[in-house]
Amino acid sequence: MRFDILTIFPNFFRDIFAHGILERALRNGLAEAHTHDLRAFTHDRHKTVDDRPFGGGEGMVLKAQPIFEAAAALGITPKPQRDLTRESVILLSAGGKRFTQATAHRIAKLDRVTLICGRYEGVDERVTELLCDDELSIGDYVLSGGELPAAILIDATVRLLPGVLGHEDSNKYESFGIEDEGAAQTLDGVPRSTHGSGGLLDYPHYTRPADLEGVPIPEVLAGGDHLAIRKWRRQAALARTARNRPDLLAAADLTDEDREFLAGLE
Ligand code: SAH
Repeated sequence: MRFDILTIFPNFFRDIFAHGILERALRNGLAEAHTHDLRAFTHDRHKTVDDRPFGGGEGMVLKAQPIFEAAAALGITPKPQRDLTRESVILLSAGGKRFTQATAHRIAKLDRVTLICGRYEGVDERVTELLCDDELSIGDYVLSGGELPAAILIDATVRLLPGVLGHEDSNKYESFGIEDEGAAQTLDGVPRSTHGSGGLLDYPHYTRPADLEGVPIPEVLAGGDHLAIRKWRRQAALARTARNRPDLLAAADLTDEDREFLAGLE
C-alpha cells in the first residue's frame, strides 16, 4: 500500500514515520509513504501556494494549481477513470465525513491513497470537485493544518495491514473492533473481549506488579480461570462504554447477559 502526501510541510512527517509500528511497517515494505512539497509545484519566485479568497473575508486559501500539478506528476489516475476499489484521493478537512475505525478498515484495502493536507482557511473547492473522492475529518474540532489528520489516518490504517501487528488478532479485539464473521464467537458463548459487539471500548489492562503500593489488580486476572477472565473483561468493557461512550451502546450487538449487566449498573 502506497501513501502520497501533498503538503506545504513535508518535514512534518519525518518523526511520525520514524517510530514504533509505523516505522517498522515502512522499513519492512508493508507500506510506503511519500511526502511531496507543494511548493515544488509552483512557478513564481516566492513559491506561492496560497492566495486571497474570492468574495472577501478572513485568511488565505490553498491554491488548486500546485495540487493539480503534483497529482499529475505523481501519475494519479484522473478522477473519471479512477478505480475506487484500489485507489483514492482524500482531502483532510474539518468539514469532511467523520474518519472512524471503519473508515480505516475500508482504506486499508486500497493499493494507493493520496492525502491532501489543507492549511490556512482551507483548499480551493475545485480540488475537492475535480480531484478528490472523499473529504475526511478526524473529529469535531478545527486544527491548523491537515498534516496531523493525515498522520492519524495513516497510523490507524497501516496498523490494520496484514503482517503489521505481531499478533494478527490484535486489531479485532480492541476498541471499535468491527464486525468480522466468527471473530466474536467462542465455544462458551461469552463474547471475546470487546469484539463482535458493534464496537465496545477496550477493557482495562494491568501488568506487574500485582500490588502497586497497596492498589491491587482485580483478583480474577491473577487466577487461571479463562472463562471468568473473559466474563470480567466483557463486563469491564461494557461498564467503561456505558460510562464514557454511551452512544456506542445503541449500535452494540449485546447478549441478554450483557443487557442484564448494564441494567444492573444504573
Ligand atoms: N476554514 C476551515 C478550517 C480550516 S483549518 C473550516 O472552518 O472548516 C486548515 C486545514 O486544516 C483544513 O484545510 C484541513 O486540511 C485541516 N483540518 C483542520 N481541522 C481538521 C479536522 N478536524 N479533520 C481533518 N482536517 C482538518
